[in-house]
Amino acid sequence: MAEVELRRICKTFDRQTVVHEVSALIEPGEFFVLVGPSGCGKSTTLRMIAGLEDISSGELLIGGKQMNHVPPSGRSISMVFQNYALYPHLTVKENILFGLKVRKVDKQEQAKRLAHAAEMLGISQLLQRKPRELSGGQRQRVALGRAIVSQHPICLMDEPLSNLDAKLRGHMRTEIRQLQQELGITMIYVTHDQVEAMTMGDRMMVLRDGQVQQIGRPLDVYNQPANLFVAEFTGSPP
Ligand code: ADP
Ligand code: MG
Repeated sequence: MAEVELRRICKTFDRQTVVHEVSALIEPGEFFVLVGPSGCGKSTTLRMIAGLEDISSGELLIGGKQMNHVPPSGRSISMVFQNYALYPHLTVKENILFGLKVRKVDKQEQAKRLAHAAEMLGISQLLQRKPRELSGGQRQRVALGRAIVSQHPICLMDEPLSNLDAKLRGHMRTEIRQLQQELGITMIYVTHDQVEAMTMGDRMMVLRDGQVQQIGRPLDVYNQPANLFVAEFTGSPP
Protein backbone atom coordinates (compact mmCIF):
# COMPACT_ATOMS: atom_id res chain seq x y z
CA MET A 1 0.00 0.00 0.00
CA ALA A 2 1.17 3.54 -0.71
CA GLU A 3 2.24 5.50 2.36
CA VAL A 4 0.85 8.75 0.96
CA GLU A 5 -1.73 8.96 -1.79
CA LEU A 6 -2.90 12.13 -3.52
CA ARG A 7 -6.14 11.70 -5.43
CA ARG A 8 -6.87 14.56 -7.79
CA ILE A 9 -5.95 17.18 -5.20
CA CYS A 10 -6.95 20.76 -6.03
CA LYS A 11 -6.35 24.08 -4.33
CA THR A 12 -8.23 27.23 -5.20
CA PHE A 13 -7.38 30.66 -3.76
CA ASP A 14 -9.93 33.39 -4.52
CA ARG A 15 -11.32 31.45 -7.52
CA GLN A 16 -7.81 30.91 -8.91
CA THR A 17 -6.80 27.23 -9.05
CA VAL A 18 -3.11 26.94 -8.17
CA VAL A 19 -3.00 23.13 -7.73
CA HIS A 20 -4.95 21.24 -10.34
CA GLU A 21 -5.91 17.55 -9.93
CA VAL A 22 -2.56 16.39 -8.65
CA SER A 23 -2.39 12.62 -8.17
CA ALA A 24 0.53 10.56 -6.88
CA LEU A 25 1.30 7.34 -5.01
CA ILE A 26 4.27 7.66 -2.68
CA GLU A 27 5.72 4.39 -1.40
CA PRO A 28 6.95 3.69 2.16
CA GLY A 29 10.64 4.59 2.49
CA GLU A 30 10.67 6.46 -0.78
CA PHE A 31 12.46 9.76 -1.39
CA PHE A 32 9.92 11.60 -3.53
CA VAL A 33 10.79 15.00 -4.95
CA LEU A 34 8.29 17.66 -5.99
CA VAL A 35 10.04 19.91 -8.47
CA GLY A 36 9.12 22.84 -10.69
CA PRO A 37 9.67 26.55 -11.16
CA SER A 38 8.78 29.17 -8.57
CA GLY A 39 5.02 29.63 -8.19
CA CYS A 40 4.02 26.26 -9.71
CA GLY A 41 2.28 25.10 -6.51
CA LYS A 42 4.92 22.98 -4.74
CA SER A 43 4.61 24.57 -1.31
CA THR A 44 0.83 24.64 -1.48
CA THR A 45 0.77 20.92 -2.30
CA LEU A 46 3.13 20.14 0.57
CA ARG A 47 1.13 22.29 2.99
CA MET A 48 -2.05 20.40 2.06
CA ILE A 49 -0.28 17.11 2.82
CA ALA A 50 0.87 18.53 6.17
CA GLY A 51 -2.61 19.82 7.00
CA LEU A 52 -1.50 23.47 7.09
CA GLU A 53 -3.78 24.30 4.17
CA ASP A 54 -7.30 23.04 3.42
CA ILE A 55 -7.77 20.80 0.40
CA SER A 56 -10.28 22.41 -1.98
CA SER A 57 -11.16 19.12 -3.67
CA GLY A 58 -9.72 15.65 -4.03
CA GLU A 59 -8.53 13.23 -1.37
CA LEU A 60 -5.41 12.77 0.73
CA LEU A 61 -4.71 9.31 2.14
CA ILE A 62 -1.96 8.42 4.59
CA GLY A 63 -1.47 4.73 5.32
CA GLY A 64 -4.70 4.12 3.42
CA LYS A 65 -6.77 6.41 5.65
CA GLN A 66 -8.54 9.53 4.43
CA MET A 67 -6.84 12.51 6.07
CA ASN A 68 -8.54 15.55 4.50
CA HIS A 69 -9.91 16.82 7.80
CA VAL A 70 -7.35 15.45 10.25
CA PRO A 71 -5.33 18.24 11.96
CA PRO A 72 -1.52 18.35 11.40
CA SER A 73 -0.80 16.75 14.78
CA GLY A 74 -2.78 13.65 13.80
CA ARG A 75 -0.93 12.95 10.56
CA SER A 76 2.37 11.37 11.79
CA ILE A 77 4.28 13.90 9.74
CA SER A 78 7.21 16.17 10.51
CA MET A 79 8.06 19.18 8.39
CA VAL A 80 11.27 21.13 7.76
CA PHE A 81 10.80 24.63 6.36
CA GLN A 82 13.01 26.83 4.21
CA ASN A 83 13.62 29.34 7.02
CA TYR A 84 13.96 26.51 9.62
CA ALA A 85 11.33 28.14 11.88
CA LEU A 86 13.47 27.92 15.02
CA TYR A 87 12.41 29.69 18.22
CA PRO A 88 14.98 32.47 18.75
CA HIS A 89 14.58 32.58 22.55
CA LEU A 90 15.06 28.82 23.02
CA THR A 91 18.34 26.89 23.04
CA VAL A 92 19.18 24.28 20.43
CA LYS A 93 18.22 21.55 22.88
CA GLU A 94 14.88 23.22 23.69
CA ASN A 95 14.18 23.78 20.00
CA ILE A 96 14.82 20.14 19.17
CA LEU A 97 12.73 18.84 22.05
CA PHE A 98 9.87 21.34 21.74
CA GLY A 99 7.49 18.97 19.94
CA LEU A 100 8.20 16.11 22.35
CA LYS A 101 7.49 18.38 25.35
CA VAL A 102 4.17 19.35 23.83
CA ARG A 103 3.37 15.68 23.31
CA LYS A 104 4.45 14.99 26.92
CA VAL A 105 6.97 12.34 25.90
CA ASP A 106 8.75 10.85 28.92
CA LYS A 107 11.90 12.83 29.99
CA GLN A 108 14.25 9.88 29.74
CA GLU A 109 12.98 9.07 26.27
CA GLN A 110 13.49 12.73 25.28
CA ALA A 111 17.11 12.62 26.45
CA LYS A 112 17.73 9.42 24.51
CA ARG A 113 16.29 10.76 21.26
CA LEU A 114 18.12 14.07 21.67
CA ALA A 115 21.49 12.37 22.16
CA HIS A 116 20.90 10.14 19.15
CA ALA A 117 19.82 12.99 16.84
CA ALA A 118 22.61 15.31 18.01
CA GLU A 119 25.17 12.60 17.36
CA MET A 120 23.78 11.80 13.90
CA LEU A 121 23.96 15.49 12.99
CA GLY A 122 27.24 16.33 14.74
CA ILE A 123 25.72 19.09 16.89
CA SER A 124 26.25 17.62 20.38
CA GLN A 125 28.54 20.59 21.22
CA LEU A 126 25.88 23.18 20.32
CA LEU A 127 22.94 22.15 22.49
CA GLN A 128 23.09 25.12 24.89
CA ARG A 129 23.41 27.77 22.18
CA LYS A 130 20.68 30.04 20.83
CA PRO A 131 19.88 30.04 17.10
CA ARG A 132 21.52 33.47 16.60
CA GLU A 133 24.83 31.95 17.73
CA LEU A 134 24.75 29.37 14.92
CA SER A 135 25.82 29.36 11.28
CA GLY A 136 23.27 28.69 8.54
CA GLY A 137 24.39 25.08 8.22
CA GLN A 138 24.12 24.55 11.97
CA ARG A 139 20.60 26.00 12.05
CA GLN A 140 19.69 23.67 9.24
CA ARG A 141 20.91 20.73 11.32
CA VAL A 142 18.83 21.84 14.30
CA ALA A 143 15.75 21.88 12.09
CA LEU A 144 16.63 18.37 10.93
CA GLY A 145 17.14 17.34 14.56
CA ARG A 146 13.61 18.40 15.39
CA ALA A 147 12.28 16.20 12.59
CA ILE A 148 14.43 13.23 13.65
CA VAL A 149 13.39 13.19 17.31
CA SER A 150 9.71 13.24 16.38
CA GLN A 151 10.21 9.72 14.95
CA HIS A 152 7.36 10.28 12.55
CA PRO A 153 7.41 7.90 9.58
CA ILE A 154 6.87 10.71 7.07
CA CYS A 155 8.95 13.86 6.63
CA LEU A 156 8.13 16.84 4.41
CA MET A 157 10.81 19.34 3.45
CA ASP A 158 10.23 22.63 1.65
CA GLU A 159 13.39 23.96 -0.04
CA PRO A 160 15.42 23.26 3.11
CA LEU A 161 18.78 24.10 1.49
CA SER A 162 17.99 27.31 -0.36
CA ASN A 163 19.53 29.55 2.34
CA LEU A 164 22.89 27.75 2.30
CA ASP A 165 25.91 28.50 0.14
CA ALA A 166 26.61 26.21 -2.81
CA LYS A 167 29.30 24.10 -1.16
CA LEU A 168 27.32 23.40 1.99
CA ARG A 169 24.22 22.73 -0.10
CA GLY A 170 25.99 19.91 -1.92
CA HIS A 171 27.14 18.43 1.37
CA MET A 172 23.68 18.65 3.00
CA ARG A 173 22.05 16.95 0.00
CA THR A 174 24.12 13.88 0.72
CA GLU A 175 23.52 14.18 4.44
CA ILE A 176 19.73 14.44 4.13
CA ARG A 177 19.64 11.50 1.75
CA GLN A 178 21.73 9.40 4.19
CA LEU A 179 19.56 10.39 7.14
CA GLN A 180 16.43 9.42 5.26
CA GLN A 181 17.91 6.01 4.42
CA GLU A 182 19.17 5.36 7.95
CA LEU A 183 15.85 6.33 9.52
CA GLY A 184 13.88 4.46 6.86
CA ILE A 185 11.36 7.28 6.60
CA THR A 186 9.24 8.41 3.67
CA MET A 187 10.38 11.77 2.34
CA ILE A 188 8.46 14.29 0.27
CA TYR A 189 10.98 16.93 -0.70
CA VAL A 190 10.20 20.21 -2.46
CA THR A 191 12.77 22.06 -4.55
CA HIS A 192 12.94 24.31 -7.59
CA ASP A 193 16.46 23.01 -8.27
CA GLN A 194 16.58 20.33 -10.95
CA VAL A 195 20.04 19.18 -9.83
CA GLU A 196 18.69 18.51 -6.35
CA ALA A 197 15.73 16.63 -7.81
CA MET A 198 17.91 14.56 -10.12
CA THR A 199 20.50 13.64 -7.48
CA MET A 200 18.32 13.11 -4.40
CA GLY A 201 15.06 11.58 -5.55
CA ASP A 202 14.07 7.97 -6.01
CA ARG A 203 11.33 9.52 -8.11
CA MET A 204 10.38 13.03 -9.01
CA MET A 205 7.15 14.77 -9.91
CA VAL A 206 7.50 17.73 -12.25
CA LEU A 207 4.88 20.44 -11.75
CA ARG A 208 4.00 23.36 -13.99
CA ASP A 209 1.25 25.87 -13.21
CA GLY A 210 -0.24 23.49 -10.65
CA GLN A 211 -0.39 20.55 -13.05
CA VAL A 212 1.62 17.34 -13.04
CA GLN A 213 3.79 17.07 -16.14
CA GLN A 214 5.52 13.79 -15.36
CA ILE A 215 6.28 11.39 -12.52
CA GLY A 216 9.22 9.02 -12.75
CA ARG A 217 12.74 8.08 -11.80
CA PRO A 218 15.11 10.99 -12.47
CA LEU A 219 17.05 9.20 -15.18
CA ASP A 220 13.87 8.10 -16.96
CA VAL A 221 12.46 11.61 -16.83
CA TYR A 222 15.74 12.95 -18.16
CA ASN A 223 15.99 10.39 -20.96
CA GLN A 224 12.29 10.34 -21.83
CA PRO A 225 10.77 13.72 -20.95
CA ALA A 226 6.99 13.75 -21.39
CA ASN A 227 6.99 17.12 -23.13
CA LEU A 228 9.11 20.09 -24.10
CA PHE A 229 8.64 21.79 -20.74
CA VAL A 230 10.06 18.79 -18.87
CA ALA A 231 12.89 18.45 -21.38
CA GLU A 232 13.89 22.08 -20.94
CA PHE A 233 13.48 21.98 -17.19
CA THR A 234 15.65 18.90 -16.68
CA GLY A 235 18.11 19.96 -19.37
CA SER A 236 17.52 16.81 -21.43
CA PRO A 237 19.51 16.61 -24.66
CA PRO A 238 17.31 17.44 -27.69
P1 ADP B 1 5.88 27.29 -5.18
O1 ADP B 1 6.09 26.75 -3.81
O2 ADP B 1 5.96 26.25 -6.25
O3 ADP B 1 6.78 28.44 -5.48
P2 ADP B 1 3.31 28.11 -4.13
O4 ADP B 1 2.63 26.85 -3.79
O5 ADP B 1 3.91 28.89 -3.01
O6 ADP B 1 4.39 27.86 -5.28
O7 ADP B 1 2.28 29.08 -4.86
C1 ADP B 1 1.52 28.68 -5.97
C2 ADP B 1 0.61 29.81 -6.40
O8 ADP B 1 -0.37 30.04 -5.38
C3 ADP B 1 1.33 31.14 -6.60
O9 ADP B 1 0.76 31.79 -7.68
C4 ADP B 1 1.03 31.89 -5.31
O10 ADP B 1 1.05 33.25 -5.53
C5 ADP B 1 -0.35 31.37 -4.95
N1 ADP B 1 -0.59 31.38 -3.50
C6 ADP B 1 0.09 30.69 -2.56
N2 ADP B 1 -0.40 30.89 -1.33
C7 ADP B 1 -1.46 31.74 -1.49
C8 ADP B 1 -2.40 32.35 -0.59
N3 ADP B 1 -2.36 32.10 0.73
N4 ADP B 1 -3.34 33.15 -1.14
C9 ADP B 1 -3.40 33.39 -2.46
N5 ADP B 1 -2.54 32.86 -3.34
C10 ADP B 1 -1.58 32.06 -2.88
MG1 MG C 1 7.49 27.30 -2.34
